[in-house]
Amino acid sequence: PRRAGDEAGSQRAAHEGNGERRVTEDLLFLDRAAVMACAADVDLCEATAWALGHHAEGATRMPAEGYLPWTNDAGGQCRSLAMLGAVEPPGGTPVRGVKIINAATTNPALGAERAGGVSLLFDQHTARPVLMAEAGWLSAARTAAYTMVSLRHLGPREWDALSVIGCGTLARAHLELLGTQFPQAKSVHLYDTDPERAADLAKWLGQHCPQLHPQIAPSARAAVGAARVVVTTTTVDTGFVPAAWLEPGTFVAHVSLSDLLPDAFVTAEAIYVDDVDLVAENPRRTLGALLRDGLVAAPGVTPRRGDATGEGAAVPEVNGTLGQVIAGRIEAVRPHRGHVISNPFGMAILDVALLEAVHQAALRRGTGQRLCLY
Ligand code: NAD
Repeated sequence: PRRAGDEAGSQRAAHEGNGERRVTEDLLFLDRAAVMACAADVDLCEATAWALGHHAEGATRMPAEGYLPWTNDAGGQCRSLAMLGAVEPPGGTPVRGVKIINAATTNPALGAERAGGVSLLFDQHTARPVLMAEAGWLSAARTAAYTMVSLRHLGPREWDALSVIGCGTLARAHLELLGTQFPQAKSVHLYDTDPERAADLAKWLGQHCPQLHPQIAPSARAAVGAARVVVTTTTVDTGFVPAAWLEPGTFVAHVSLSDLLPDAFVTAEAIYVDDVDLVAENPRRTLGALLRDGLVAAPGVTPRRGDATGEGAAVPEVNGTLGQVIAGRIEAVRPHRGHVISNPFGMAILDVALLEAVHQAALRRGTGQRLCLY
């Protein structure tokens, strides 16, 4: 591999040079350390809000996700996700790419992160991949950035404590970004069914985010009740958080998508998603199942519980997307007397938007390795 800086912009020259277009068969590779170094030059929350705003304006595309599950020899659940996305701002520079993120539930027991993979960005003219990057760190960071943006627009106006249920990779990514985005956050209540993981995260916080005072909660219920901002980053596939656990004025970032029980959605003051179709097409997750069963309605559709004549009680409705809030198209409802839920399915357009910002930083810094395909 050659250093990127040795031939700065050779890829760009392929389509910007003297009217003569040439297809190059090399691409820039960024390992995790390089991705992290370049991401330090980038405002991840701003890049996230940029992509969400374009999503609300219809300037994005996300083909159906590829999903391939299997079971490994140890009985662990494995899956491969292939997520294509494009942000195509009118009159602006388009960004297109794919994230391939695979996971095995048995990886943490091997001392490895559950999920990992690579992302690619595509050249506008030749369609060739121009960048390949380690995907795990940025994938977690983009999910955390979404939570930070949602909290800014939809969270309580005043808060200084946060609860995190599930203390793995995503939890750490959230707390890493929290310190930079919300300096008023003073304490973090941690809960994990594996006490060692909660203890490890508390120790990590002491070393990396000393301004955040960690407290390990004795139960999920105690953690949920301890703060007005609750982030779920578990791996459950069966809900365990009822509405009764949520204090008035609570904002829930339901990142892991299956923790809240149906009554938490049905009684919510407001529900926001990243993309209505993505959520609705996945009934394996709580909100997807509620939309399928007509117990929660998609925005603008107001089915009623009961019979087809429209008799019966109105069902709660998803308010819309965070992008629509950012674009000023719908109202931002913050938690007041009840709770507000943010339920992001996870969008490839955020992965590609953030990766492009990292790519530009890598080109400026001369970071990365050139890989020659042939
Ligand atoms: P991880 O395996 O690193 O961490 C999950 C942690 O949750 C583990 O420490 C585990 O012990 C704990 N846990 C499991 N069940 C629990 C329970 N009932 N109560 C408390 N703790 C529990 O996983 P990760 O990589 O951090 O991912 C966390 C979740 O985030 C996954 O479900 C993943 O699918 C989801 N995710 C969502 C998005 C999104 O955009 N919505 C994006 C990426 C990941």
